[in-house]
Order: sequence, then structure tokens, then C-alpha cells
Amino acid sequence: MDGITTHDPAAVDSLDPEVAHYTVKRVSGETVDPRADAINSVACFGDTATGRAEPDRLAVDADGDRASSARREFDWNWLCPTDEGYRDRIHDCVDRCVAASPDVRLLTVGFPGEGFCRCERCTALFDASEHEERTDWRAAVITEFVEDVADRVPGEFVLTAHPDPYPGHLRARRGLDLARLDEVVDGFLVPLCDPEYATTYWLETIARGFSTAVESPVTVQLSSTPSAKERFEAAAHAVAPHVERVVAGGTRETLEPVW
Ligand SMILES: [Zn+2]
Repeated sequence: MDGITTHDPAAVDSLDPEVAHYTVKRVSGETVDPRADAINSVACFGDTATGRAEPDRLAVDADGDRASSARREFDWNWLCPTDEGYRDRIHDCVDRCVAASPDVRLLTVGFPGEGFCRCERCTALFDASEHEERTDWRAAVITEFVEDVADRVPGEFVLTAHPDPYPGHLRARRGLDLARLDEVVDGFLVPLCDPEYATTYWLETIARGFSTAVESPVTVQLSSTPSAKERFEAAAHAVAPHVERVVAGGTRETLEPVW
């Protein structure tokens, strides 16, 4: 195991991993102090608390429906990526992280789905842009956002990618242009989480797909599953040949048995 991803400071302290991704700003909206001994990780447009407190910041679809966690397809609230005021908060959070440690990872970067965002600001920005297709405009918006953060990160800069390496899918889904972003970031982290890992062929397929899709080093995150250590080991065995690093995600309680 090459490292861990966790929001549990006790896991970083007790396991003393070579690489620790420590979640500073979480999709719940909770934000904690960054650590000096970690790749501090920042959830960007997934932010349930902000979406609840400031619903006008939520992304909306063509029907005007908001991208809230009340919808079946979303596990957390998704905010509009063109909201400059909210982007400033992310930049402030990144600045606090790099003051503690040079390495940063971003989570939940992009639009919530293909039909987003149709808020008045996004529609006006698209209309005023040079792009004829909204998909192209969305990709330009997200690339610019990632480039802006990259300029603030002096160390290793890692982008979390939804586990879909099929060419064009992430660009259409989230506005994540993998080929373009490959030149901006220092690595990608792909979460392949499952509580059981009863089968592993899909892990190998996705890990291999990402290693073909990008030049940058790929890290795969697996769930720590203390009830079935041998399944966790089978999962790690399936992905390890195809990626740079395999890290386990969880708390001290779940990580220690597989560490
Ligand atoms: Zn919008």
C-alpha cells in the first residue's frame, strides 16, 4: 500500500504513511485545518452545507431545478462552477493548505452533470463566449479553474477524477478535458470504492483505462474493508500493475486492519 486518503487525523498520526491525502474541505462543507505532513485535499463544487445555506449558489438544469442532494443522482449538493464569489473561497482554502504543505489535491471539480449549469450567469457567459457548443464552453471553464488553482500550488498538484476513462465521457459529463488537464496537473486520483470487492475485473479495466488515457501518474483509491482483508488485497493486486500508486481510503479504525 502506497498511502492513505482520510479525513481522520488519527489515521495519519498512527499509520505514518508515505503518502497521506488528508481531506481539509469535505463534500459536507465541513472544513478543518490543513496538515504539514499531507497532501491536503479540497472538495470544490461539491459542498452540501453551502448549498443548503446559500441555495442560489447551486447549479441548475434547463428546467431550473437545482443540483441538490435531494435528487436521487446526487450524493451531495453541487454548486455552480462560474460563481466567482464561491471560487474565491476555494482559492482561500487552497492558500491555507499550501501555507501548511506544498501539495494539494482537488475533489469534485466540474459541473454536476451533462445538463448543467443553466443558471442566468452561465447562460450569459456561454452566449458571450467564442464557443458554439456548450460542451466546449464547459470544458474551457473547468480547465481555466484548474489552471488558476495550479498557479497557487507550488508542490504536487493532483486532480480527483470520476472513474470513467472512456474517451470524451468526463468532458461531456463534468467538463473535465482529461487530455488538456493532463498538461496542467501532476497526477490524477481515481476512487474505485466498494465495501466488499466481491469481483475485481472492473477495477483492472478502469485502472488500465486511465493509465492509457493520461501521461500523468495515476493513483487509485480503494476502500479499506476490514471485514474482508483478502478481498481488499485482491483489489489492490488487480490495480497495482497499471497505476503509479494504490492508496486506501478510510479512518484509523478501518485502515489499520488492511495497513
Ligand atoms: Zn451556473
